[in-house]
Amino acid sequence: MKKWGKKAGYGLLLVMLTASVAGCGVVSENNKSIETGQPASGKKGDGKIVIGMSMDTLKEERWQKDRDIFSAKVQELGGEVKVLAANGDDATQMSQAEQLISQGVNVLVVIPHNAEATAQIVEKAHKEGIKVISYDRLIKNSDLDYYVSFDNVRVGEMQAKAITEKVSKGNFVYIGGADTDNNAILFKQGAMNILKPLQDKGDIKIVYEQFSKDWKPEEALKNMENALTANNNNIQAVVAANDGTAGGAIQALTAQGLVGKIPVSGQDADLAAVQRIAEGKQTMTVYKPIKSIATKAAEMAISLAKSGKVEGADKKVNNGKIDVPSILLDPISVDKSNLADTVIKDGFHKLEDVYKNVPKDQWPKQ
Ligand code: BGC
Repeated sequence: MKKWGKKAGYGLLLVMLTASVAGCGVVSENNKSIETGQPASGKKGDGKIVIGMSMDTLKEERWQKDRDIFSAKVQELGGEVKVLAANGDDATQMSQAEQLISQGVNVLVVIPHNAEATAQIVEKAHKEGIKVISYDRLIKNSDLDYYVSFDNVRVGEMQAKAITEKVSKGNFVYIGGADTDNNAILFKQGAMNILKPLQDKGDIKIVYEQFSKDWKPEEALKNMENALTANNNNIQAVVAANDGTAGGAIQALTAQGLVGKIPVSGQDADLAAVQRIAEGKQTMTVYKPIKSIATKAAEMAISLAKSGKVEGADKKVNNGKIDVPSILLDPISVDKSNLADTVIKDGFHKLEDVYKNVPKDQWPKQ
């Protein structure tokens, strides 16, 4: 086992999260440290398993849950986690991963900002004998060891299906995510699996399709404004790739008095999005239980650290170079009719938070 603390001097410089349910330790984003409790020691000579987690971002609500649940599970299994988040910057993610590698983590878990650029991280980790798990997003064209995610093509299919169930004719807009994220490509592929045959039949027309740089809601807002302008507001449906982009699209629709009149999809079951669903402003979201992926990833990381392998990674996902042993979990389509039975029942959000802006007599019976 690698010794933690080989280069202990880094410990104070690198601001890291010493994983804990209580949030002890320090998390760094964009090289700015945010104190969250006791300082991370950065010195481990006790042979404890240390898992490095290199994250693209903590911006969307979900990623904080991913970090916290993953960290808590690793701790429960006897390990420790060092987290660094790159705030959407490739060079930062690279240097943070290098820091984790040189600190001698046992296993590296990566949520890539850029599917291609992060292949270098895999290479560097392997040189030091460290195995790499790609978390939620695939690292492409590399000798990646394992991949854990949801069935992302299925996510896109769910989004388009829910929207075409509401509106089956007319002008459709596709507001995608970041084109640097392999998931955004898969979500679009899934959506097009549903939309293209309808277009070929002449039922619908995809009048606008654009990715939104770095998944930014403000990019999605601009995209939606452009789509509306180019079509004189003659739009009947919007498939947006996640809740952040849905939020941007809905802002543009609101400005044109079209909110609630045009179905809009999303993904992540962010609180703002499930509130919009409860209020009738957004049609659906795709709920991907973060507990499942974070727990699974933690188990994989610990098992990899202990035995060099992972049980149950039975699926193969080709990353352009190799077939990566993978675990793909099932996403869940959520609309107004099953909010209570999914995100609320799971404790992902509280009923009173989801329905905060809705009169109490319209709340679902518990
Ligand atoms: C994830 C989504 C998330 C998006 C933006 C994707 O890779 O699968 O859940 O909304 O990134 O962070």
